[in-house]
Parts: sequence; structure tokens; C-alpha cells
Amino acid sequence: MYPNKFDYYRPTSLAEAVEITARYGPDARPLAGGQSLIPLLKLRLVNPAVIVDLNAIPGLSYARQENDRLTIGALTCHSDVDESDLIRARYAAIGDAVAHIGDAQVRNLGTVGGSLAHADPSADWGAVLLAVGGELRCVGPGGERLIPAPEFFTDIYETARQPDEIVTEVRICAPKPRTDGAYLKLERRVGDFALVGVAVSVALDENAICVDAGIGLSGVGATCMKGISAERILRGSLLNEPAIAAAADSLDADIDPYTDARAPAEYKRAMAKVFFRRALELARQRATAQRL
Ligand code: FAD
Repeated sequence: MYPNKFDYYRPTSLAEAVEITARYGPDARPLAGGQSLIPLLKLRLVNPAVIVDLNAIPGLSYARQENDRLTIGALTCHSDVDESDLIRARYAAIGDAVAHIGDAQVRNLGTVGGSLAHADPSADWGAVLLAVGGELRCVGPGGERLIPAPEFFTDIYETARQPDEIVTEVRICAPKPRTDGAYLKLERRVGDFALVGVAVSVALDENAICVDAGIGLSGVGATCMKGISAERILRGSLLNEPAIAAAADSLDADIDPYTDARAPAEYKRAMAKVFFRRALELARQRATAQRL
């Protein structure tokens, strides 16, 4: 099917993009990699009057360390993140996630900002950002604001971003010593969205006690979700079997999977616990090896 008619803008600055987006409000849709938007347009599931193509705006594609934080530009494609030495060295959960998004074509075109703004509840970026405590920088006519990841995802394909705002950057605090993470996902076939995805970040002290934990899950509810109860149980624990078992059980309270074409809700519930245990163990091993 062909998309409905729309006007097409290709601004060359962020200010211009914001001005156009603000002028048309909900009738305008930013276009990044087009991996989600183009199919939606062709199926006429979304019918914007205006497309604002962000790809001619310079300076929105990067992954760099700035003082005590990692910043990733919204237009950075998944494969550039995957190939980043910085990410590989210090942000393992992100590296795990981007390496398994779709296929090479999707990773070459799909962007970090596009994935987060699209807010598919089975997407990988959302789970990871919830686990590592990231925030999103959004720029609109009123200036910029930072939205913590737990406040960003509000419902299925819905976010706290206003229609006249553009996501420009993702920010993540640099990990402290003995802090690392992992993301594991169960997919029916290679390249599929997550049936269940679990991201875990743990910070250990010199006695191997978990001083901080972040858990994000995809595929188990209307949004990517935080495993708040499990985080609470792991903090202050030695990550021994009783603590891990209690944390895995507590996921039941935090997730709300539904039955769909991928799997029954009960299967997703069970797999969330299995993948949580595996991701936690991998994160713990990595954090133990991490001395920087
Ligand atoms: P677009 O399609 O251009 O835009 C998506 C939405 O976000 C639109 O509503 C658009 O208006 C809005 N938007 C885009 N950029 C911005 C911005 N900077 N500010 C505000 N709004 C913006 N994802 C996974 O996580 N895991 C997978 O395994 C996976 N597999 C896939 C397999 C296939 C075959 C395909 C086609 C996609 C898959 N994806 C997967 C989705 C992929 O990650 C896309 O990159 C992502 O969903 C959308 O990113 P995009 O840059 O293409 O955004």
C-alpha cells in the first residue's frame, strides 16, 4: 500500500526542525531511520500531514564519554553503537542489546532516538536504558528538558515526549568501579523482537556485596518495565541463591505480560525469570572482572 499524501520537510538545523514540528504539532512526525515509521505509513496506521526528516541535521550522531557520562546522539544508528570501542569496553548491556536488534539492514538504518521514541514494548533499547538509569534529552519550542527513562515510557507506543519535541540525546552515568551489566533476549528466530528481554546492571563493593542494581525488561507488558522489587531485594545482598530466587520471584509483581502471537503470558512470565537469572549472573561476572 502507498502512504497517504503528506508534506515533506528536510530541515538542516535542530532549531528549524523544532520550529516545523511545533508549527504542525500532532500532525507532524519526525523521520529518523524509517524502520518503524515507513511501514506504519505504508499500512496507513499513521497518517501525518507532515514528515520532518531529521537526517540532514548535523551533529546528532555520536557516542562519546563526556566527563562522568556517556552521551549518544539520537540519530546514531544501532550498528555505529555496536561498533563503538567505548561501548564495548564499558557499557556491556548496551553492546549486548544493539548486536541483536533486527538484522544488519535494520541496525544500519534504525536509530537510538527512533527506537526510544517509537516505544515498542518489546524493543531492546528501552529495557537497557531502564536498567542503566539513562535519561533522554528532548528539545521543543520551550527549550530542552531531560526525562528519566522510567518516566519516558507511558503506554504502548506512548511516551512522555510532547508532539512538538524532538529526542536529541540519550545520557547515561559512567559506571563506577566493579559495575557492569548484561542484556539477554529470547527471540523466536534470529532478528526477531524480544519475546522476553532482560537487562541487568549491578554495582559491587570490594566484598562482592551488591550496592546497586538496575533491572529493565522488554516484552512483558505495555511498556518496557523496571524490575523495581527485584532491584530492592538485590541491593545490599551478596547475590547468593536465596537473594536471586527472591528477586526472580518478585518479578511477578513488576511485570504484566499478555498473550500474543509470540507466546502465552505465562510462558513469558516463566522466561522472564530464567533470563533474569542468566543476565544477572553474566552482569555479576563482568562487574567482578571490572576494575576501572
Ligand atoms: P523511525 O522509524 O524513523 O521513527 C519511529 C518513530 O519515532 C516515529 O513515530 C518517529 O516520528 C519517531 N522518531 C524518530 N526519531 C525521533 C526523534 N529523534 N525524536 C522524536 N521522535 C522521533 N527493534 C528492537 O529493539 N529489536 C529488534 O529486534 C528489532 N527488530 C526489527 C526488525 C525489523 C525487520 C524492523 C523493520 C525493525 C526492527 N526493530 C527492532 C526496530 C528498529 O530498532 C528501529 O530502529 C526502531 O524501531 C525505529 O527507529 P528508526 O530510527 O527507524 O525510527
